[in-house]
Parts: sequence; structure tokens; C-alpha cells
Amino acid sequence: MSTLKAVRGTRDLLPPETALWNRIEAVARSVFARYNFGEIRTPIFEDTALFARGVGEETDIVSKEMYTWEDRARAQSEKTQSLTLRPENTAGVVRAYIEHKLGETGQLAKLYYIGPQFRRERPQKGRYRQFSQIGAEVIGPTHAGSESPLRDAEVLEMLATFLDELGITGWTLKINSVGSSADRPRYIETLRTALAPVVSQMCPDCQRRAETNPLRVLDCKIPEDQPIIDALPRIADSLDEASRDHFAQVCAALDASGVPYTHDHRLVRGLDYYTRTTFEFTHGGLGAQNALLGGGRYDGLSEAIGGPKAPGIGFAMGEDRLVLTLQAQEANQKAAPPQVADTYIAPLGPAQNPAALALARTLRRQGLRVELGDGTFRLKKSFEAADKTARSIVLLGEDEAQSGILTVKVFATGSQSKVPQTELADLLAGLRNT
Ligand code: ATP
Ligand code: MG
Repeated sequence: MSTLKAVRGTRDLLPPETALWNRIEAVARSVFARYNFGEIRTPIFEDTALFARGVGEETDIVSKEMYTWEDRARAQSEKTQSLTLRPENTAGVVRAYIEHKLGETGQLAKLYYIGPQFRRERPQKGRYRQFSQIGAEVIGPTHAGSESPLRDAEVLEMLATFLDELGITGWTLKINSVGSSADRPRYIETLRTALAPVVSQMCPDCQRRAETNPLRVLDCKIPEDQPIIDALPRIADSLDEASRDHFAQVCAALDASGVPYTHDHRLVRGLDYYTRTTFEFTHGGLGAQNALLGGGRYDGLSEAIGGPKAPGIGFAMGEDRLVLTLQAQEANQKAAPPQVADTYIAPLGPAQNPAALALARTLRRQGLRVELGDGTFRLKKSFEAADKTARSIVLLGEDEAQSGILTVKVFATGSQSKVPQTELADLLAGLRNT
């Protein structure tokens, strides 16, 4: 029989790497809480129509990357339904915002999420078919201030704080404005006109995009196309006064808070629903997949999926890419210390197993990390196992169980001593700093 493996584009996360994932999530929760965000958890699959409308039929995600299936009816009363594993989480959050009438509070909904997303892409470093995003959204009625450029700047400043607190150094923030839903068609027309005489000299992808979604031409990475693209008209010159003013205010607030950024005229982003501010944080250490996170404003998204007017701004970070960046940084510094238990309890004979479990329970409740051996092991085997997994070993024989005086050996110093059980936890905790 052939052995079964994790499916292409998916992978197992094992300790000690999972500790890094937890650290990233803990920093995210801590930072987001200080900006008064709360957590939302939406289902991992949704009605396919949500993504068709909320992400856009013309996007790469919807047109070729989604895991979609026709779900069978289980009863007469049920209909078959087209379902999709979520390729991103913003559409789900906005659906939940509408479904639970969160706009009726008159306040901004400030929600963050952490969880897996699914896209059928070509797997490579930093690009998987199941990956995890940490994201947040600020959505609400206009009278609650959801369109304010201060919201955009605050979200960007929060991201800078998050990356700094996580210890990621050397990131770059690029921002742009793709204009309102009124500006965009005007620019697309300008772009079509400018592309017409040159498109035949461009790559096949650009030739296709020029037809279906001309904005995406600006995303092209083919070196030969770059001079042509750099000479195309800029979206900034197609913005009306309100959009231009909004962008200027975002920039002014960022300047005041000291968050460094560059204005990238070509940043248009992949999802159709973005309006006005778009942004990306990149990191040089990531190679070709250099985007740590992306986001922007989506003033028309709620209406696009049948809800009330509810402008919003949000972002999604690739958690896998945060991990890769931190791993690369830490490899340059010193290797992270391997995880070790505070102690290994070795019962001396099977009869001591119950007492050993009781002792382990006591120590674990006192906050210690404990590995529990087995009374059938010979002493030599217990010592070998303990030396690999823990800082110390506690021997528990019949005498020890009766007297409550335990034998402890500390590996770093080689010292062996008798310790009353009541003093054991303190002694073991003290070893952490040696
Ligand atoms: P990219 O240009 O890298 O394809 P994207 O424009 O598709 O990114 P978004 O859909 O905005 O990105 O997703 C936000 C973030 O999620 C990205 O910046 C990236 O860090 C991460 N991400 C997107 N797709 C993947 C994937 N297949 N595997 C791992 N991370 C991903
Ligand atoms: Mg992508």
C-alpha cells in the first residue's frame, strides 16, 4: 500500500514551530485589544455566491483558485447548494456584520480574526493551498466615522506597532489610492486607451488582463514589460478632489505618527472590492512572495453582498509568511533554545506509577512543565530519556513515596540531592534561569 501524505499545498505544523505560531497570535491579540478590537470567528465554508459577489468574478481567486463543491441534500426539505472553502475572510466578516445587524449599534464594528484560508494556487515557498491569515476589519455606518481617513491611518499605525512588537525588522509599507467607484471607471478608460497601442508588445498575461481587468496590468512582474508600465498614466491623476483629499489626509496622519511609507502608484491589489486606500507591507527576506500583508478600503462591499451602506477598511496578514520571516531572522541571530521540560519523574517500579502521576499532577498545577516516565523502565533508560527531554530527574521509589523526601538530579550541574516534596516546585522553577 502506498503511504498517505498531507495533500499538496498543505502541511503539518509541529512543535517547536507551533510555539512560534502561538507567539505571533498572542502578540496580535494583545496589540488588537489595545486598539479596542474584538475577535470574530466565521465558518470555514460559505455559500459560493458570497465570494462571487464579495471578492469579484473576475479575480484570480474566484475564477480559478476556489475549492467549491455542490453539497448534496440530506433531506427532502434541503436543496443542493454550492459551497466554497473560504479563500479569504473579509467577505465572511461583512456577511456576519450584515446578518447580525451590527451597524444598528451606530458604532463602528472593529473585528479581528485568525484562521485558515484555502486557495488552489501553485505551491511554493510562502504560498500554500491551506494557509493562515490574521486580519481585522473596521466597518460601520458613515455617521459613525467609517469613511474617515483617520481610520485608515490608525489601522496602518496598528500594523506598524504589531510588526515592531513581534520583532520583525526591515519591513516596507507601500500605500496608494485606487479612487472611489466613480474614479475607477474613468481611470480604466484612460488606461485602456493608453494600452491599446502598446499591448501587443506585452506578455500574454498582460494582453489578457488588458481585456478583462486592465488594472491588473499594473501588477505585472515581467522585466520586459516594466518600461511600458512605468510610462502608463497614473491613477493619482484620475482621482477626483474628494479622493485626492482623503488620500492626503491618510498620508498626513501617518506622517504625524511617524510611520514610514512610500507612495506606490502601481499598487492596485487583487480583490475587486477595494476603493480609495490600498496598502501592502513587504519584507525583503521573503523572496518572490514578499507580501507580509495586504489590505485596503472597501466602501461598497456591504452593498455588493446585499447589505446596507457600510464603508470599511481592513487587512489580512499571511501568518505563514510572518513565521518564515521570524525564522529567517532568528537563524541569523541565535538558534531558539529547544523546548525542555522542568523535570522528568521516574517511578522506580510499576507500583509507583499511581504516586508518580499524583506528583506530576501536583507539579503541573504549580505551573511546571513535567514529563512522566514509566515504572517498567530500568533506571538507565529513565536517565537517558530524562536527559533528552528535561533539565532534571526526580526519582520516586517506595521510600520516597512514604517519606515525601525525593531524590533529584540536576543535569546542568550533575548535582544530586534529597528534597522535601513541598520544596520541589521552587527548586525546579529556579533551574529555569540557570
Ligand atoms: P500575493 O500577492 O502574495 O498572492 P494576495 O494579493 O493574493 O497576495 P491577499 O489576498 O490580500 O494577498 O492576502 C493577504 C496576505 O495573505 C498576503 O499578503 C499574503 O501574506 C497572504 N497570502 C495570500 N495567499 C497566500 C497563500 N497562498 N499562501 C500563504 N500566504 C498567502
Ligand atoms: Mg495571491
